[in-house]
Amino acid sequence: MYLSMVVPCFNEEHGLQRLHDALVEALAGVVRDYEVILVDDGSTDRTLSEARRLSEHDPRFRYVSLSRNFGKEPAMLCGLRHARGSRVALLDADLQHPPGLLPRMLVLLDTGYDQVVARRSRSGETAWRTALSRTYYRLSRRWLDVRLQDGAGDFRVLSRRAVDALVSLPEQHRFSKGLFAWIGFDTGYVTYRDVPRETGESRWRLAALVDHGIDGLTSFNDKPLRPALLLGLLTAAFACAAGTLVEGQQRWAAALLGLGGVQVFLLGVLGEYLGRTCAEARRRPHYVVKESSPLPNAFAGEHR
Ligand code: UDP
Ligand code: MG
Repeated sequence: MYLSMVVPCFNEEHGLQRLHDALVEALAGVVRDYEVILVDDGSTDRTLSEARRLSEHDPRFRYVSLSRNFGKEPAMLCGLRHARGSRVALLDADLQHPPGLLPRMLVLLDTGYDQVVARRSRSGETAWRTALSRTYYRLSRRWLDVRLQDGAGDFRVLSRRAVDALVSLPEQHRFSKGLFAWIGFDTGYVTYRDVPRETGESRWRLAALVDHGIDGLTSFNDKPLRPALLLGLLTAAFACAAGTLVEGQQRWAAALLGLGGVQVFLLGVLGEYLGRTCAEARRRPHYVVKESSPLPNAFAGEHR
């Protein structure tokens, strides 16, 4: 059974050789036939030439290079589309997703799961980030139409039919955590301790995390419109009540303030969905490929 590994890479020049060695070591004696697809997500360092070098020296390593930095989600989609295996693993280039876990995950997958997820325990993370994530998952359980799991990220192994389901989803704003949950199938879990990044640095600043979080909330439900509606009603009622309690000019101030707040909030919610609709309506491709490693002849016809 053929295994594909999809690795999104953005400015990982110092990590690729180490990734190569770790993967080769982890899979030796476990999987005979495998391919590794390095997706260079418009890196500005020497990631692409590293990927070229690796693929020349080890034919199991292939690469696809995107024309600019499109983000991790599009890079993963690109990799999934190029993967030919009957099982596909997704992992980060920085070894924060330890390849040593792959054999265990594959064994579990073969017991009948379609997804096996490596869950990270939150040890070693700053307190505020843990608190932020916890709140997010609590909110998402209440608001989302799909069930997200804390600590379950993109590190996972998928069956061919799960991959086919994922790549068939056409949306522009991809929020993989939600998509993985949306496609369903039986999911198994293994747990690992968080490991710090060794080379390069994380690209997820707080702002990017918040952005990603909002993407998740708004692509999996339309319930935020409901609290917005309720809040609107409540504030209007409150403004009415306040208007009867206070005297003279203050009434107007209370009423206007209340209504103003509600309007701005509602506009924000509407704007969020409108922006999303616009992006979907443009139907642009998720990414543009600049170059990819030459395919061996035997596979040329199957390339997709
Ligand atoms: N990545 C990517 N495109 C981006 C940002 C990140 O392909 O625009 C890749 C990156 O090279 C790494 C993975 O996505 O393999 C996770 O990124 P990072 O380590 O920065 O995120 P974190 O581990 O902090 O969540
Ligand atoms: Mg990382």
